[in-house]
This record gives sequence, C-alpha cells and structure tokens, in this order.
Amino acid sequence: MKAYGVNELRKMYLDFFESKDHLKMNSFSLVPQNDKSLLLINSGMAPLKPYFTGQEIPPRNRITTCQKCIRTGDIENVGKTARHGTFFEMLGNFSFGDYFKTEAIHWSWEFLTEVVGLEANRLYPSVYLDDDEAFDIWNKEIGIPAENIFRFGKEDNFWEHGAGPCGPCSEIYYDRGEKYGCKKPDCTVGCECDRYIEVWNNVFTQFEGDGNGNYTELSNKNIDTGMGLERLATVVQDVDSIFDVDTIKALRDKVCEVAGVAYKKDAKIDVSIRLITDHIRSVTFMISDGIIPSNEGRGYVLRRLLRRAARHGRLLGIKDRFLATLSTTVIKESKDGYPELEEKKDYILKLLTIEEDNFNKTIDQGLTILSELEDTMVKDGTKTLSGEDAFKLYDTYGFPLDLTKEILEEKGFKVDEEGFQKAMKVQRETARSARAVTNYMGTDETVYQQLDPVLTSAFVGYDKVSHSSKIMALTTESEVTEELIAGQSGTIFTEETPFYATSGGQAADTGIITTVDAEFEVEDTIKLQGGKIGHVGKVTRGLFKLSEKVNLSIDVNRRLATGKNHSATHLLQKALRLVLGSHVEQAGSLVTNERLRFDFTHFSALTKEEIQRVEEIVNAEIAEALPVHTDIMTIEEAKKTGAMALFGEKYGDNVRVVSMGGFSKELCGGTHVSNTGNILVFKIVSETGVAAGVRRIEALTAVGVFAYYNELEKELNLAAKAAKTEPVNLTKKIEAFQEEIKALLSENEKLKNKLAKDALGDVMNQVTEVKGVKLLAAKVPDVDMNGLRNLGDQLKDKLGDGVVILASAMADKVNLIAMATDTAMAKGAHAGNLIKELAVLVGGGGGGRPNMAQAGGKNPAGIDAVVEKAPKTLENQLK
Ligand code: ATP
Ligand code: MG
Repeated sequence: MKAYGVNELRKMYLDFFESKDHLKMNSFSLVPQNDKSLLLINSGMAPLKPYFTGQEIPPRNRITTCQKCIRTGDIENVGKTARHGTFFEMLGNFSFGDYFKTEAIHWSWEFLTEVVGLEANRLYPSVYLDDDEAFDIWNKEIGIPAENIFRFGKEDNFWEHGAGPCGPCSEIYYDRGEKYGCKKPDCTVGCECDRYIEVWNNVFTQFEGDGNGNYTELSNKNIDTGMGLERLATVVQDVDSIFDVDTIKALRDKVCEVAGVAYKKDAKIDVSIRLITDHIRSVTFMISDGIIPSNEGRGYVLRRLLRRAARHGRLLGIKDRFLATLSTTVIKESKDGYPELEEKKDYILKLLTIEEDNFNKTIDQGLTILSELEDTMVKDGTKTLSGEDAFKLYDTYGFPLDLTKEILEEKGFKVDEEGFQKAMKVQRETARSARAVTNYMGTDETVYQQLDPVLTSAFVGYDKVSHSSKIMALTTESEVTEELIAGQSGTIFTEETPFYATSGGQAADTGIITTVDAEFEVEDTIKLQGGKIGHVGKVTRGLFKLSEKVNLSIDVNRRLATGKNHSATHLLQKALRLVLGSHVEQAGSLVTNERLRFDFTHFSALTKEEIQRVEEIVNAEIAEALPVHTDIMTIEEAKKTGAMALFGEKYGDNVRVVSMGGFSKELCGGTHVSNTGNILVFKIVSETGVAAGVRRIEALTAVGVFAYYNELEKELNLAAKAAKTEPVNLTKKIEAFQEEIKALLSENEKLKNKLAKDALGDVMNQVTEVKGVKLLAAKVPDVDMNGLRNLGDQLKDKLGDGVVILASAMADKVNLIAMATDTAMAKGAHAGNLIKELAVLVGGGGGGRPNMAQAGGKNPAGIDAVVEKAPKTLENQLK
C-alpha cells in the first residue's frame, strides 16, 4: 500500500465519490448558518441539515464534501489519545432520498480496500444490534465472516439528535496491530485503546424519531457518512497517531523547533507538543472563518484553545510570542484544500499576535491574584483553594484549572476541583439556556416551513423597478392560505420579483403589489430557505388569490438612496484597506436608504487623520465618476480578479462581482448606483468599537449628508442666537463667557468668605475661660457645614489654644461643629464627646474625633441652649 499524503487522500476520496455521481462541494464555514443548536460545525452532515429535512432542495441527490470540523467535546482527549483533535477534517458522502445501505457499504469497502489499498482482513465493521439488513450486506455481499462483524447498542451505533431524522450506524474499524494495543486479554473492536481505531461511520437515516423512543420509517431514506481524514491518513501511512501524518507532522516539527525540544523523549512534553499542534490548527481555521476571541460562545472557544496553546508553550519553555509563527505553517500545509487561509493570512497572524499579547498580560495579573489567595489561605489555615476562586482565575484571567493546580501543588496546596466543576456547570447551564434550542433544525418554527420546498423565486430587480408575475404561494401570519383579503396581514410569494430581500447587509425594498381591484403594501421583503422571496405586508384593498397575475412595484426613491449607500460601502472598504492595511476585513454591514454602517476588523480606534484620509479617498473616487459594472463569473475567476469576498461565506457556483472603475471589486448581490458620481458626497459621522478587534463606522451619502449639515447648521444658528451673536463669532463669544464666569466665580468665593466673617461679628468678645481652657461657643447665622469648618479653623488659629464650638441654623436644619487644640485635649477636652452631648439639644446626633467633630440637628430653637450649656459640658470633661 502506498503511504498517500493527507492532501492526496482528500482528493482521492472526493474524486472517488464524484465518479459515483456525487456533487463535490467545498467545505462549509465552521460557523453554522441559521442553526442556533450548534456553536461550531462538528460533522460533514451538520451544514447539510436543511437537505436532510427536505426544507431545501439539494443541488444534487448525492453530495460529497471534506468538511472542516471542531469538536470541543474532545478537548480533554487531545494530546492523550492517538486519534482525537479538536480540529479535524471529515470526509463524507451523502444521499438525500437516493441510494441507501447497499451502495453506501459497498462503496466504503471499495474505497478503503481498492482505492486506498487497506488490507481487507484488518477491517472490522460494526452494526447496530438489530440491524440485520446491514449485517447481511457485510456478511453475505462483502464476505466478512460473521465473527468479525460487531453488534453494538444504541450508545455507539444509533445516531439520534433530539426529535427528527435518525437511524442505525455501521462503523468501520481498522486493526493497527498489537503494538498499538493495551494488551488486555479482552482487547478487541470497541476497546478504548488505540489498536482498533474507528475510521468511518456510515449513518443510515431511515427513521423519524419523536424524541421519546418512537420511530416511524422515513419514506425518503438518507445516507450520511463521516470519515476522519487524519485518521485515514494515520492508518494509511502506518504511523502512531494523527500527529504523525505528513501535514501535521510538519507542524509538530515546527512546534519542536520553536520550543527547542525533541518529540518522543518525555511523555509529558509530548502531550504539550501534540496539544499545541492541534490547538493552533483549530484557532487558525476558526479565525479564517471570521470568529473573533471573546468571552462567550464561539469566541470563547477560540480564546480557550488559544490560551491553552500559549500556556503549554510556556510549559515547554517558550518565552516569546510563538502562535503566529506556527500558524504560518498551518496555512502553508492546508492552503491546498482551503485557499481562504492564504487569503486571510495577514489578518489571522495579526489577530493571533494581539490575543497572545493580551493573554501574556492577564497571565501576570492572574499570578498576582493567585499569590494573594495563597496568603489568605495561609492566614486562614486552609490548604485548599475554593472552587469559586479557581473558577474566577479560570474565567477572568484565563487560567486553566491545571495551571492553577500545578502552581499550588508546588507549595503544598490543593484545589477544590468539585467546587470548580460546580461553578463551571452553573456557568455552562447559563450559557446553554441562553442558547434556546428550538427544533431539529435549530431554527425558530415559522409559518414558512409549511411551504413546499420546491418553490423558488427569481429576483429580476437589478434592472427593473416594476414587474408582473404570478402568485405561487400566500400565507397569513400563521398559515399557508389560498387567499388574502383586505385588512389581512401576510406574505405573498411570486415566481419573479423586482423586490430586493434583506441580504448581504442591504435592507429590503418596500413598495406595492397590485391587481386592478386589489392592493398590498409591502413593508418588508425576506429571503427564505430554498431561495424563496417573501413580500411581507398587508392587503389594503380587495382580494389576492393563488395563481393570480400581479404587478409588483418597488419604492424607487428608497431603492436609489439605498444603492448610493451600498456603493459607498464598497468604496469605504477599499479606502480603509488603503489607509489601515490589508488586515481590514468586513465583519458586518447594514445599508439602508438613510445611512450605512460598516463593521470591520481593526485593532485600535481610528485617529482623526485616518478618518479624514478615508473620507478624502472615498470622495475623490466619487468625484472620479467611476462607472459601476456587474459581472457574473465562477468563484475561481472572481478570486483571480482579486475581488474581495466575505469571511467563510458560502458562495454559489456563479457569483456576482461588482466593480467600480479600477478602484474596487467585491463579490456582492446587492443593488448599486450605475456611476459613483451619483453618490454625490460621503461623510463619516461616527467611529466606535463594537467588540475586541472590531470597529464600526457609520456614514452618510448624498442628500443624507445635506440633511446632516442642515441639522448642524440649524443647531449652530440656535446656539448663536442664544448667545446673542452670529455663528462666525460664536467661539469667541463662548470664550468671553468662560472668562467672565471665571471672574464671577472667584469674586463670589471672596464675598462668601467675607459674609461668613461679617455674620460672626466680633465673636472674640465671647471667649470665656473654663478651668484654664479658653472656650469660644457661638451662634452664627446661615452657614453650611463646610463654611462652619473653615470658620472654626480660623477662629481656632486666632484663639491660639482652646475649644471652639459653633452652631448655625440654615433653613430648618442646624449645623454644629466642635474643635479642640492639642493643649486643650491634653487637659481633657474631647470634641467628639462635646458634640455628642450638645447635639441632643438641637434634636440631632453626631460625634467624631477628639480634635474635631460635627453634627446635624432639626431644631434651630435649641441653638441658644447649646451656647449656654457649652461651658458646663466642657467643665465636666476637664481634669
Ligand atoms: P470516537 O469514538 O473515536 O471519538 P466518534 O464516534 O466520536 O469517534 P463520529 O462522530 O462517528 O466519531 O465521527 C465520524 C468520524 O470522524 C470518525 O469515524 C472519525 O474518523 C472522525 N473523528 C471523530 N472525532 C474525531 C476527532 N476528535 N479527531 C479526529 N477525527 C475524528
Ligand atoms: Mg467522539
């Protein structure tokens, strides 16, 4: 047998099934589309769900793919088993109501034994317990001896996912020989060790399950198979593990080189090497599909994998940043099958670098927190770090549990792992409940799922604003119907339509649908599975019937305004790349008739100068009056022209390329101006951050800009009027105001001080002496607490030595302070205690330090009593 390479095997498989009339399709993005039940694509079948349920018509009844997959559930296995990665590629062949068990089994056998050349007597199939049909095919048709076919139960050999299509499986195991075995006497197919390795799983989707163990036979039976490409390569190349196959070994070697360590010298080091090798593949592919590190969902998975890799790099003794270097090797080894890696290279490397730098920062913060926690443990005399604290380190500082454990173990501490898991579970459950699973498809149930999946609409609106066509379906808000009558809300589907449905960030057209006797107001246009375009709105007059011919007219002004904003978005994207660099990628957009919003990857706020540069470039291209052209071509041709495409977007065979002179070329299905001159003018009105590494620009064009400036001008005129001047003099006037205010404030301050002093009159007359301590107890009108304190300080200075007690009524409240100098305190005076006793007289309470205390009260009538009783109270304190 020839030891085929990974890239060769991928091609052999796809070619083989193409020769069996399968349509070869590219891998779908790792990000599920319209599927809320799944965080990341984890099998070849996952992105094909709508074909399995019949909600969409597949382009052919037989499809074959090599799908990139992420399985976070396998994260604990990675590095420890020979066969698990968090990232892997799954080869698959699929039948939608076409061929079934016989062909599926025969072809998988033919591929493994004849195309690849695996030894037949090393292959062991398994079937579901009572799937005699599959058993007989293996036994009687292929000729596998009965004792070499294993029957497994539901857990292993029945594929089921809640309610929906499900069915028995037949797996194929390969015996890699004794040297890989666990040597236990009962080691055989199904053993957890690495001798018998599952390479292929054929799922026979033949039932519809209700989720409660009741099954009905499907009329359209499907085939869904999955074979790990890396696993196939492992057995074909007869190597130890998926980490030894050609492409991955190249990466593994690079890891060793960067870390300066050797593989297969130390088992613990090997785990770290394999782990980094795997995780860097996952993160590279995830980033290339537009996932951005964050603290939730997919972004969190990315962050976790990335940090885990970075940490194991430290364990191997790597000091500097290293992830981007390794990612370069991933890109080199896999760009054959995944050209998007090369296309997004700049961006991938930049993002990796920034995220790794960030982690290097939190790791130090986390270490500080951890050492503080150690101190507390020592103080409390405990040896175990609480689960919550360990989880906090994990959650906030990105510390994996094993890192925390390792550090603590060195110092004789443990971690409450159970508590950690509990905290983790609570968080997971919160995350899960936030991700409501609705049905098998992971979409919300809507009336549109009752529509016939063969229905599809053609969009004819690129060069038409009105058109006549036949109604092919009607729905009310809750059901499919044959008629819609005045007053009813619902959706009209026609065979052809000039209405643009919301997609690619461009907002929908609105308008009207009419017959001679009836009118329907289109409030929104939506695109549904299977290419159906729905006109959502309300019948305002008459009756609409199925199969009737209608006239469809869009709101032309709205369409034109939207087109200006959309075309400007293209110019903007190109300008951003010119000003900021080629790492700029579109991360989202929203184009309406009123404004445009463009989200893009960039790692810091734009400066004023950058924003200005971008605006200048866009306006220059508008002034150039570039003609706008659209061409239909294959995706390969489009990429060759250098057209910009979206992250992980699944494009059909033929794509539409919109070019503006020689300046911008983008894959786009939207509607545009015919010449950039029509945009008139472009203005950025805001630039903000929306997520880590993602910036957002909002901008206006044409009349939108004039409206914006009109609004500003109006505001400016109002401001000038309020300032009793002309707009041109407004700034000077405001500066003059500010000067004036400053002068007034300082004068006010002086006056207030003077007033307080005047109010006091000549209080120094009121100084008495109590047992050799000078006492000034006085009533002053209308001074607040702050004022009293200032006053008290001044009087204390004048007094030189002694005690000051001041009381003042303001409105219905009383403010009271007492102060004592050091000498007075030495003789027994205590301001706090004085206040405590005296405050009672004004209906209040308070206290304070021996040298200074204050209190509030509610009874101004009591102030005289305070002054009167002060000498006696002080006397009682003195020795
Ligand atoms: P295992 O029991 O070995 O984890 P599985 O039952 O989870 O495998 P399936 O869900 O049937 O595997 O996936 C189909 C095929 O995908 C498997 O036969 C295997 O070749 C491959 N595969 C599954 N998980 C991984 C993984 N973590 N890394 C690499 N290949 C995998
Ligand atoms: Mg598994």
